[in-house]
Amino acid sequence: MRKAEYPDEIKALVLQLKRLPGVGPRSAERLAVSLLTNKSSVATDLARALDTAARQVTACPVCGFFQSTGQPCPLCDAPDRDRGVVCVVEHPTDVIPLERTGAYHGLYHVLGGRLSPLDNIHPENLRIGELTRRLSSGGVREIILAVGSDVEGEATAHYLADHLAPLTATTPLTITRLAQGLPAGGGLEHADDLTLHRALSGRRAL
Ligand code: ZN
Repeated sequence: MRKAEYPDEIKALVLQLKRLPGVGPRSAERLAVSLLTNKSSVATDLARALDTAARQVTACPVCGFFQSTGQPCPLCDAPDRDRGVVCVVEHPTDVIPLERTGAYHGLYHVLGGRLSPLDNIHPENLRIGELTRRLSSGGVREIILAVGSDVEGEATAHYLADHLAPLTATTPLTITRLAQGLPAGGGLEHADDLTLHRALSGRRAL
């Protein structure tokens, strides 16, 4: 007797869900079945929200944070931000916990990751050229390196400090780094507000 299987449409849905971070084969199957057996409009609402977000959300060409197409960047275009301070983070999601501390009022620059030669992530794969050009145009007096505190984060911070050092000689630019408070080996997204607040106030020059 031929064994029963899910229809191809469900298999295709499971396959797509499995591509998401943190979703294993069993969870993907549970999610797919739950979406399709839900009597309310969850599946169609989700499909619509995904489609809209995928089409409408882009990265700001200046800072790299999320931006809705046709709308000004909520960070770069904010009139009450200190334009003399730029905080460098690895991912756009790192901006949110820093904003939540309420302790930072400057601008941001998203690198798009951290240096990791083993994963083939080299300086040219990050938004370092954009950062250099942004700083070269002047007006920035402090750059805060808010990358993670693990080995790759440290390597990225040191690379950036070396790379930007010539600018500190020709412009009034100071390079600082988040210091105390961040858990060793942790990324910004896992830190609580107080830890991030301490890390921001305890930053040091490199
Ligand atoms: Zn921006």
